[in-house]
Amino acid sequence: MQNETVFEVEERGGLLLHQGVIRVPYTWAAGAVASKFYVGLRNRKIYGIRCRMCNIVLVPPKKTCHQCFSDLSEWVEVSDEGTLQTFTVVHYSEPELHPMKAPFAYGIIKLDGADTGMTHLVGEADLKALREGMRLKAVFEEKPKGNYLDIKYFKPMKGAR
Ligand SMILES: [Zn+2]
Repeated sequence: MQNETVFEVEERGGLLLHQGVIRVPYTWAAGAVASKFYVGLRNRKIYGIRCRMCNIVLVPPKKTCHQCFSDLSEWVEVSDEGTLQTFTVVHYSEPELHPMKAPFAYGIIKLDGADTGMTHLVGEADLKALREGMRLKAVFEEKPKGNYLDIKYFKPMKGAR
């Protein structure tokens, strides 16, 4: 594996400046809550976690409620359909950063049964027709592996306006 790729060398004040990218291989333990969420995605199910104190369902799930700081453990399956709360359209491609080729959109989607929105990609969409409140449905990868991008993107539902 190549750890450093030097793209450009610049000289400034007698010093050479190397512009490059450092790649760092790593292993990340997702933790108990994210692991259960990702296992759900691998099975094409989307799980949230309920806070009984606040009576809200967090998606993606968190170990601790962001409102009352309670420890959370009550899992609930939510819908794969939801409402676009906000979005932004990306007009440039950056393969190292973005999983889709531009133009595409990132959105925050509040799934039915959830009280918080999840950030994700919006695909199969007329980007000029996107609007807040639009109904979207998750499109899963053909072979989910157990990560956030097991949902390829959310697409507008038929007849969504
Ligand atoms: Zn709470």
